[in-house]
Amino acid sequence: MFAVNDNFSSLPASYLFSEVARRVQAYTEAHPEADVIRMGIGDVTRPLCPAVIDALHRAVDDEGAAATFHGYGPEQGYSFLASKIASHDYRSRGIDISEDEIFISDGAKSDTGNIGDILSPDCRVAVTDPVYPVYVDTNVMAGRAGTLQPDGRWSNIEYLPCTTDNGFVPQLPSSSPDVIYLCYPNNPTGTVLTREELEKWVEYCRRNGALLLFDAAYEAFVRTPGIPRSIYEIEGAKEVAIEFRSFSKTAGFTGIRLGYTVVPHELKGRGADGSPVALNPLWRRRQTTKFNGASYITQRGAEALYTPEGERQSRETVDYYLANARIMLDSLREAGYECTGGVDSPYVWIKTPDHLSSWEFFDLLLNRYNIVGTPGSGFGPSGEGYFRLTAFNTRENTVRAMSRLRL
Ligand SMILES: *Cc1c(COP(=O)(O)O)cnc(C)c1O
Repeated sequence: MFAVNDNFSSLPASYLFSEVARRVQAYTEAHPEADVIRMGIGDVTRPLCPAVIDALHRAVDDEGAAATFHGYGPEQGYSFLASKIASHDYRSRGIDISEDEIFISDGAKSDTGNIGDILSPDCRVAVTDPVYPVYVDTNVMAGRAGTLQPDGRWSNIEYLPCTTDNGFVPQLPSSSPDVIYLCYPNNPTGTVLTREELEKWVEYCRRNGALLLFDAAYEAFVRTPGIPRSIYEIEGAKEVAIEFRSFSKTAGFTGIRLGYTVVPHELKGRGADGSPVALNPLWRRRQTTKFNGASYITQRGAEALYTPEGERQSRETVDYYLANARIMLDSLREAGYECTGGVDSPYVWIKTPDHLSSWEFFDLLLNRYNIVGTPGSGFGPSGEGYFRLTAFNTRENTVRAMSRLRL
């Protein structure tokens, strides 16, 4: 019989959200009258803004007339959108990124997961801990992770703990990894890194010939002046960093799917003979071979975000979530909880009280307050003893959930 990719067999079942669902169901069956408020969701709840909806409708009509019909488009995305990304998201902010450094895709999950295709299977990887699980699991699938140890860590991955002990600021690696994943604003902790901190990482990667994979899926939530929204705000980052962006959390595209990845021309790795190899043509080749482009309709929808109305409307939606986060942060602190995030991020990260485990706190919040969140231990070993609540809810539910904490 043929052999399978055994790396998949070594991946433990991802039981986090199914276990959450199981416990919630058991509770609601036992307490049918309970009004359970779900604050564990990592999905947005506000609808797409009117500017996007109008553009989507127009694009649908385009597809219904021979003169404006669009079939296969460019795999790396239409120029009408890439040019606006380059000018609005980068050049207008003083960052020199050109259209052919932008690769439009169906989202940042695919891109952060697929990027390993253009890296050696021997690359050593470092991640912050807790972490967005995609970075770890896709490296397990590619055979880069080594073996799973009893402490829940993979032997070939360096974990950079982010806890109250270091103020959620990861230390530079000790194992000289080739590839480092950073996500800021962070999922799950909701924390950000200052310009000075990000400068350290860019400097580290330049000095050590490492690649920085920077996930900026939450950049639109940054409101604190001076906090970078792009890694390319840091001098020299174009030589070491790939940036991933998504329209999911910033504009509600989780259902219709769209994101993009920036691979600068200056960014080079090493070939087998030691000579420098540019990553931009490699990623272009990867995408044109394995991906057939995001749909014309969704790209027209995203284009509308770069009009004055689209910009204003999508900002209002992000503001709505940020106001929820503010309410959560204030209420939780008033109730005596130690928490971070929630300022430049839709996530509030709570330290569990009384040394409760993440799951013990989950049960306590569910049973006492009928609030559902996500146990921090599901995001990595250093997430144990923490808990994530999200601001992706209605104002009404957010206020109701938080008022229960005062009882
Ligand atoms: C939600 C999220 C993404 C976005 O994924 P899409 O595939 O674009 O919807 C990427 N990275 C992180 C850390 C996320 O939380």
